[in-house]
Amino acid sequence: MSPFIEPFASIWWFVLGTVIGSFLNVCIYRLPRDLSIVSPGSACPACGTPVKWYQNIPVLSWIMLRGKCAHCGTGISLRYPFVELFSGVIVLVTWLYFGPSLGFAIAAPFALAMLVLFFTDYDLKLLPDAITLTGFVTGMAVAWWNPFLEGQGLERIWWALVGACLGSGFLWATGAIYGRLRGVEAMGMGDVKMMALVGAFTGWQGVLFTIFGASVVGAVVGVALVPLRGRSMQDTLPFGCFLAPAAVVAMLYARDLIAWYLRMVLPPTI
Ligand SMILES: [Zn+2]
Repeated sequence: MSPFIEPFASIWWFVLGTVIGSFLNVCIYRLPRDLSIVSPGSACPACGTPVKWYQNIPVLSWIMLRGKCAHCGTGISLRYPFVELFSGVIVLVTWLYFGPSLGFAIAAPFALAMLVLFFTDYDLKLLPDAITLTGFVTGMAVAWWNPFLEGQGLERIWWALVGACLGSGFLWATGAIYGRLRGVEAMGMGDVKMMALVGAFTGWQGVLFTIFGASVVGAVVGVALVPLRGRSMQDTLPFGCFLAPAAVVAMLYARDLIAWYLRMVLPPTI
């Protein structure tokens, strides 16, 4: 990248990321509640006063308002500037990692979608279809150009489909078996649809890594939280909160890691 362009390109992507993050805050609140993400404009949830454009600048407005509504003084959650900042970091880091490429064009939106799913699952234990199913369809539509899938062209569409079926099938089967044993519905259909999205973008390697990684981290965190919060295992974080970050790591590293692992365990062919 030319030194005349570079610092400005990074700043541009970071700032654009925080603006996208501001919109993702709206999505996180409204999508699981079946509200429109276009209208009405943002308003204070306490007094209903519409947010003016200069009070809607990512991160900065929250700092200038010192975390309070300008009209009624009700506190504004630290969540909002955090999501804006984190979205900026996601876009910046993927830009620095991939540069102007298909990798950037696919990894950045994928990670942002995972950010939304993390928080909707955390807040309401819901993974909205507007993200999971739309994401799955998008993943299939862009599979041809997706460098995180194996092979080229048609092969990639095949591997996206395999990943989606494997991911959703695995979670659906686990949920069905677990439900039979315990008489409860352990895995919501939201997780099943989420793994179709993850599989369409990351293939079978991404799916295996995501489910394995999320299960291990989920078990460790679950056990760690029991004495801290005095809750049972079932009351800890929903599974989507572990699937989402694992899927981002999987997109970047699962293929290399699994290929390396297979070379370790399989004897070399003579
Ligand atoms: Zn207010």
